[in-house]
Amino acid sequence: MSTAAAPEGPVLRMEEVRKSFGTSLVLRDVDLEVAPHTVTALIGASGSGKSTLLRCANLLEEVDDGAIWLDGEEITDPRADADAVRRRIGVVFQAYNLFPHLTVLQNITLAPRRVHGLSRADAEAQARELLDRLGLGAKADEYPDRLSGGQQQRTAIVRALAVRPRLLLLDEITAALDPELVGEVLNLVREVKDEGMTMVIATHEMTFAREVADQVCFLDAGVVLERGTPQEVFGAPREARTRRFLRRIV
Ligand code: ADP
Ligand code: MG
Repeated sequence: MSTAAAPEGPVLRMEEVRKSFGTSLVLRDVDLEVAPHTVTALIGASGSGKSTLLRCANLLEEVDDGAIWLDGEEITDPRADADAVRRRIGVVFQAYNLFPHLTVLQNITLAPRRVHGLSRADAEAQARELLDRLGLGAKADEYPDRLSGGQQQRTAIVRALAVRPRLLLLDEITAALDPELVGEVLNLVREVKDEGMTMVIATHEMTFAREVADQVCFLDAGVVLERGTPQEVFGAPREARTRRFLRRIV
């Protein structure tokens, strides 16, 4: 007899998250729910609050109000261990992700060895396996400045995955790349999705968001103005502001 697995709760949940910088209110009562093995795309104009939302989720910014849960544990609780939380969340930013004085392999094995206590041999074996699987095996012993921008960002993704995070946050990871290098990075994100990773992705790549996201959130001045499936948000946006944004960007 097969036993049904208990339904999994959301990996990430935000409730009425509010964040100001000085007098400017940057996130206004943001609610968000990210189900396991799904991709959420955050879209919206520059300054709409996408990066701040990601930084709050990773406790790089402290929220002013509201609450955030990771796997059902409230991480905005003052008693939560922020370092332990960050170890469960991988993050890749727009640029300058890699340590320039370390090889690809050393970049990837650093956190598994230092933070998670893996032996050098185990960390390297795991890193090589991950690099091979994700098409970067030949680059293991190169330094970042010998890699293209696309290879650097792919390495940064591999490095974030090396600690087996519960959640991966990607913030405009193709924004600094030459157009011909964008595709290889987005292809890697597709593979990571196919492996079941839960992700929240801030992006200006609308075609990519439409194809890869399970949920799309349109941020406007710190408010999630519209959310839904890609078909809903891109195909039949309800809000005039969403329509205007999409007309401008697509
Ligand atoms: P996005 O990623 O959508 O471009 P951000 O989250 O970076 O938006 O920024 C949202 C707003 O918050 C902007 O007006 C930005 O200037 C402001 N902001 C972001 N970070 C800071 C900070 N550390 N100090 C002051 N203002 C900030
Ligand atoms: Mg940003």
